[in-house]
Amino acid sequence: MNITALTSTAVGAIFALVGTIIAYFVTDRGGRRRQSLTDQRQSYLDFARAVEAAFGALRRMCEPDRHVDNPRLTAHEAVSESHVYVKRQPLLLLNSGAINRHAADVLRCLSDLKRAAGGGAKLDTVAYHRAFHPFAEARRHLRRAARLELGAPETRKEAAEDVQGDRVAECPVCRAETDKPTV
Ligand SMILES: [Zn+2]
Repeated sequence: MNITALTSTAVGAIFALVGTIIAYFVTDRGGRRRQSLTDQRQSYLDFARAVEAAFGALRRMCEPDRHVDNPRLTAHEAVSESHVYVKRQPLLLLNSGAINRHAADVLRCLSDLKRAAGGGAKLDTVAYHRAFHPFAEARRHLRRAARLELGAPETRKEAAEDVQGDRVAECPVCRAETDKPTV
């Protein structure tokens, strides 16, 4: 093989290699993006499930007919056994500041709800509702942010249209309290 043929073979090999490398990185970047969205969604879903588990356990202990020996301890266990703070870590690492700000609000409100339940508040009391409504509102904001950022195009559209109003105004317990005559 003469030097010209050798050179063109080498140049051809280099072009082929460069092409393979570019193809690898282009595909890999797309793959990484898809993987990242999948991980973001999963971390949100894990966190949201933990929030629901904590809320469900707190709500159960606040049922009017349920006797709870040690409300403070039961409320503490309701939250800690949901592992909501553990599930928050991947959320912090993978998701946006907006989603995490709403998640922080949810946790703050969940903590208020834990305090109310731990203090013996029952579902039909104003003490429970004062903590429940802000929690429900914070959870709604988090869901909306997640649907906008992580949802499929149709759920993003629904989230953008979702402008539900204040639920306190529709709540019989809170309305009865507001309508009470002041003495
Ligand atoms: Zn209410």
